[in-house]
Parts: sequence; C-alpha cells; structure tokens
Amino acid sequence: AKAHDIVIIGGGSAGIATASSMLKRRPSLDIAIVEPSGVHYYQPGWTMVGGGVFDAPVTCRSMESVMPSTVTWVKDACESFQPEQKQVTLRDGSTLSYKILIVAPGIRLAWEKIDGLADALGTNGVTSNYRYDLAPYTWQTVQALKEGVALFTQPPMPIKCAGAPQKAMYLSCDEWLGSGALKNIDVQFHNAGGVLFGVDAYIPALMEYIERYGIDLNLGSTLVAVDGPAQKATFKTAEGEVTRDFDMLHAVPPQVAPDFVANSPLAGETGFVDVDQFTMQHVRFPDIFSLGDAGGMPNAKTAAAARKQAPIVAVNALAVLDGKEPVSDYDGYGSCPLTVERGKIVLAEFGYGGKLLPSFPKWVIDGTRPRKLSWLLKSEALPWIYWNGMLKGHEWLVKPQMNHGVKDAA
Ligand code: FAD
Repeated sequence: AKAHDIVIIGGGSAGIATASSMLKRRPSLDIAIVEPSGVHYYQPGWTMVGGGVFDAPVTCRSMESVMPSTVTWVKDACESFQPEQKQVTLRDGSTLSYKILIVAPGIRLAWEKIDGLADALGTNGVTSNYRYDLAPYTWQTVQALKEGVALFTQPPMPIKCAGAPQKAMYLSCDEWLGSGALKNIDVQFHNAGGVLFGVDAYIPALMEYIERYGIDLNLGSTLVAVDGPAQKATFKTAEGEVTRDFDMLHAVPPQVAPDFVANSPLAGETGFVDVDQFTMQHVRFPDIFSLGDAGGMPNAKTAAAARKQAPIVAVNALAVLDGKEPVSDYDGYGSCPLTVERGKIVLAEFGYGGKLLPSFPKWVIDGTRPRKLSWLLKSEALPWIYWNGMLKGHEWLVKPQMNHGVKDAA
C-alpha cells in the first residue's frame, strides 16, 4: 500500500476545505485526496441557476484548480475501508494506508427510490435543481410555463440543504408573479415532512410567501412515482395514494449515505459515518474523522456547515496525529439562505437543537425576516468566500475555538 500521513476521501466542499485548513497549520503535511471527479461543484449556486440568476458554469471549476498544490490527488474512487489495517481500497484494487483518515464523500442522491423519475428528468417539464445539468432546465421550464399545474416536492430528511426544495418554488413563483402567469398556475408544495421548515423561527416569514404566491401546501405528502410522458405524479399520503397531473414538476430525490460508507465498519445506524457530533472523531476508530454530508452528526447538511466543520476537524486530526486528544467542539452550525423572492432572502442560521446562531447582529441582518442584504450575501459574497476563503483555508468567521469538553464541564 502507498502510505500517506493523511488520506482524505472526497474532494468536495468538505474535503478540499479540510486539506487547505490542515496545510495552513502545517505546510509540510503529506496529504492524499481520493477523488474520482475532474470537476468540483459549488452546489449552493444551483438554486440560483434554476432561478435564472447565475449561469451554470459559474458553479463549477476544474478539480485540479481547487486541489491544494502540495496535495497528492489520487484520481480514483474509494471502494472500501479496512480500519483495523489503517487502510482503504480503491476501485482499481490498489490500497492506501494512513495515519489519519478523513471521510468526506458527500451524500448519495437516490433518484431510483422514486419510480420513473430518473427516466423522466429533463423532458416534459420534469426537472431538479439537485443536478448541475438540470438546473438550467428548471429556469427554461419556468419561463415557458404560462398556465397549468406546477408541483414542487421534498423527500423525507435527511437531505442536503433542506430549504432548497422550497427555494426553487419561491423563485419560480416570483418569476410567474412578474410575468402575470401566477394567477393561471396552480402551485403545489408536496413535502414528505410534517412542517414547512425544521426550525420554528423561520416559519412565519415563509408562510407569508406561501400566502402571497397562493401555494397549496401539502404536508406529509411523499412523491413515489412519476410518469413523464403522461405528466402524472403519484404521492403517498395519510389518506392513501393520490395522483396529480402536472405541467411542471420540480423533484428532489431521497438522499442516503454513499453505499461504500453505509456497508462499511465505519457506518452508524443511519448509514452515515459514526462520529462524535462535537469532535467529529469516529466513535470506534480514533484515527478516523468525518465531516460534510457523509458525517453522521445531526446538523443541517450544508456547505456552510462544512465551512465551520473543516477547521475543527483540522485541529482535532492534527492533535490526534501528535498523540493528543481532540481540542475543539463543533456546535452544529449550518445555514440555509431561503430565496423567498428574487432580491430577498430569509437567512436561516442555526445549530444543534435548532438553536439560532446568527452571524450578524439583528440590526444588520434579522435572519427571520426577508432581507435584501441577505440576498447580496448569497448572490455576491458567499460564492467568493467559498472559492477564495473556504477552499483556500482562510478562516474568516470560522476560527475553531479550543473548547473541547467545555459543554460537558458546564
Ligand atoms: P460534496 O461537496 O457533494 O462532495 C463530495 C465529493 O466526494 C464529490 O467531489 C464526489 O465526487 C466525491 N466522492 C463521491 N464518492 C466518492 C468515492 N467513492 N471516493 C472518493 N470520492 C468520492 N449548502 C449551503 O451551505 N447553502 C446553500 O444554499 C445550499 N444550497 C444547495 C442547493 C442544492 C440544489 C444542493 C444540491 C446543495 C446545496 N447545498 C447548500 C449543500 C452543499 O452543496 C453540500 O452540503 C456540500 O457540498 C457538502 O459538502 P461535501 O464535501 O460533504 O459533499
């Protein structure tokens, strides 16, 4: 096996940010990143692509351009873990050994769990902002729709960016309001969950938009089948199955831990990596950490969460590499900028237990209300911070605190 001090699985938001953060602290560190893809996506931008605000290409860059220069990029997929041997096996059969392993391969979009959906996507008004190639089709479909039925769906949790299903809906409605088509379109939100949003403080502002756009809100309604050519969608509800005709369907797939993680000794009950929710250290293998969407922590799965987690995993993993205990705890911070109309955002920021964790004082940005400044943050500042701050190991606003155990002691 080829040996490295640090092996990171996944060169997405979390993997690249963690590598850069570790290298900022220890420039000579020997890090390998296992990543099969030649492109790196800024997925939070896909909502803006679907809303006609960004062009798709601004949300992707070559993987090479985001890889820190001193990292060894292993362009292959990880296939299995041998934690007892401190080793991982790749798709080509080769193995890598490590002193510290960091697991960040993201979440898997399980399109196949909805009958007929995979084949229906991209035609007959069936779309999803959850795919780079389809987000532009969302915007095309929205612009073309003048009347009829538009369905927006949300699967059971967990999903990445829990607000994204409704963001797509609000931006579509805003466009239809402007074009005058909204009065001729029956807009329905079908959410498998029982509440509009998981943190109460943001619901009143969102409900105002549900009313403004005249959206028919269906909670506990789960998309189970799609017939693209016939433009029919079937939902499971407490009252049994219901089939609706549509002219547009924005579908969000159920999401699960990647199979090679779920079927590994690293998985917890949920299939995600079984880590301590504060230190992100594995509960059985102290030389393994996980963060980002693949981590089993009960936070909202977002790039904003990964931005906060990366420096914490970096300092904890370096401590363990030096034979010490983790030094920093994560508070569960995640953020979901809800695009309620073009030009305004309800900026949800919260941690474990739904505790509000605003980045700004209320007089600058009241996250529970629609704000223009929050829109500027999402449309201008955050993409720049992502490419030039988070992926480069600059830790503005997210310096890890050496606070391990403080919560237990209190
Ligand atoms: P990813 O960034 O998905 O990266 C995972 C990487 O692992 C990929 O590069 C993949 O190729 C690689 N990989 C997969 N399998 C393997 C394997 N076997 N071996 C090695 N590598 C592998 N977040 C926000 O903060 N704000 C938002 O507004 C927001 N909006 C979103 C809207 C949409 C439509 C979507 C889809 C996501 C949104 N997110 C948002 C969520 C955000 O994009 C994710 O939470 C974030 O990308 C998670 O980072 P990650 O590194 O864990 O996973």
